[in-house]
Amino acid sequence: MSATENSISLPAEILPKDGRFGSGPSKVREEAVNALLAAAPTYLGTSHRQNTVKYHVSRLRRGLSSLFQLPTDWEIILGNGGTTLFWDAASFGLINSSSQHLDFGEFSSKFATVVQKAPHLDEPEVIRSEPGTCPSPTASTVDTYALTHNETSTGVTAPLNRPAKEGLVLVDATSAAGAISWNPSEVDCYYFAPQKALASEGGLWLAACSPAAIERIEKISSGDRWTPAGLDLGIALSNSRQDQTYNTPSLATIFLAAEMVEWINNSGGLSWAEQRCLQSSGIIYQWASDRSFAQPFVTEADKRSPVVCTIDLEGVDADTIATVLRANGIVDTESYRKLGRNQLRLATFPAVEPADVEALCACIDFIVDALD
Ligand SMILES: *Cc1c(COP(=O)(O)O)cnc(C)c1O
Repeated sequence: MSATENSISLPAEILPKDGRFGSGPSKVREEAVNALLAAAPTYLGTSHRQNTVKYHVSRLRRGLSSLFQLPTDWEIILGNGGTTLFWDAASFGLINSSSQHLDFGEFSSKFATVVQKAPHLDEPEVIRSEPGTCPSPTASTVDTYALTHNETSTGVTAPLNRPAKEGLVLVDATSAAGAISWNPSEVDCYYFAPQKALASEGGLWLAACSPAAIERIEKISSGDRWTPAGLDLGIALSNSRQDQTYNTPSLATIFLAAEMVEWINNSGGLSWAEQRCLQSSGIIYQWASDRSFAQPFVTEADKRSPVVCTIDLEGVDADTIATVLRANGIVDTESYRKLGRNQLRLATFPAVEPADVEALCACIDFIVDALD
């Protein structure tokens, strides 16, 4: 009689030390939580308009400039609401009238939808490709291009290349920022929320902005387009320059993000984090290629994400595997709900230990054997 999912207990010696493999919110490093705990008595519960909190905002902004090795005329701006809110803000404060969007999964499609519904903007150009692939932008007359660095719903990483001389290039980097390198000369606004590769909490958006993006923000913000204050990037910009946000942010999110950015910078920077993620994801892709019941979902190897590994299963039920893993303390390995595939989605963000990724693969093998 084969084992049922309720009866499979993974031996303690094969378990990863940390069982968090979710694509976001993702594993937060214990060291960062301990640092927050140590700072808490003089930090949490204090005014975000005073120097203690402003110091940590400044630490985060400076740390990100150094992480991305930004040219000195770039600025980091921030505000509340995460990436989803930034799309709304960008539809008011970054797009003049026309935009082109690459749509290759749930997240990249959402920004296009925001623009489609905005009465003050033109119908956007949308270039779509099947989940598991990514399309290329085409040079156009639009004033803004919307790219996605890592499509978290499918596990595809896209190259970032400026499609044309004219037009701002906005990049949703929510699951890539801090894990995948990029070239600022190809981008104008690299925006993200810190609950994925940056191992913090949600609710905040951050955006690295080129002088051209800043100029666009200032021009639109000082013009006559009506913009809700909470979505006004001009207001966000002036607050950010004072290491503040327009309204109250989560102090824990800011602190944990600053800790993570500093940890990466002190460990060797973005290239170090990227190598670590390539190592971890390489373990998973190699493991899947070596198994008869598994294979990487993304067929083009150079598009396979180093941080979100999507693995199709055959002959074994992915939901059952994920359920057994969860019952044994290994969580959030389920595939993206709307993708509807027999798939595991395993995050290998910088905070995840490569040794834990090895252990995860061994645990899946154990479950597949036990179910057989
Ligand atoms: C998670 C994610 C989002 C949404 O981020 P929120 O902070 O929840 O709004 C957007 N884009 C990508 C690529 C993501 O991975």
